[in-house]
Amino acid sequence: MTKALIITVKDWWESQPVPPQISCIHLIVGKFTCVEPVSLQFAFNVQKQNTFLEGVELAIQETPLIAFCHHCQQDYFPEMGCQYACPQCQYPMEDIRSGRELKIDRIEYSFETEDSAAYAPNL
Ligand SMILES: [Zn+2]
Repeated sequence: MTKALIITVKDWWESQPVPPQISCIHLIVGKFTCVEPVSLQFAFNVQKQNTFLEGVELAIQETPLIAFCHHCQQDYFPEMGCQYACPQCQYPMEDIRSGRELKIDRIEYSFETEDSAAYAPNL
């Protein structure tokens, strides 16, 4: 996961006419991806050593797991670790509305001559 992230950022970085100075990468990580933000952060900190990402921060925003029950016609927050089912009618979870995201939200960067800007890769 971290490798894919770094490759995505590197591709973008290398495609710039002037390589920008990246300051922070904002990630969106869904609760249902089973990716631990702490271990992701750790892996990133290890892999960025001696690369163009040296000194770059990783900011992780977690999105909750939200499911939709067709019986009750409403969203609910399934409890993690338990059986995934609607708390109202106990119907097993079918539709996941949110919580499976794993993507780059935006990259904060700057050029020496310009003010900082942000890039959203729209993955
Ligand atoms: Zn229900």
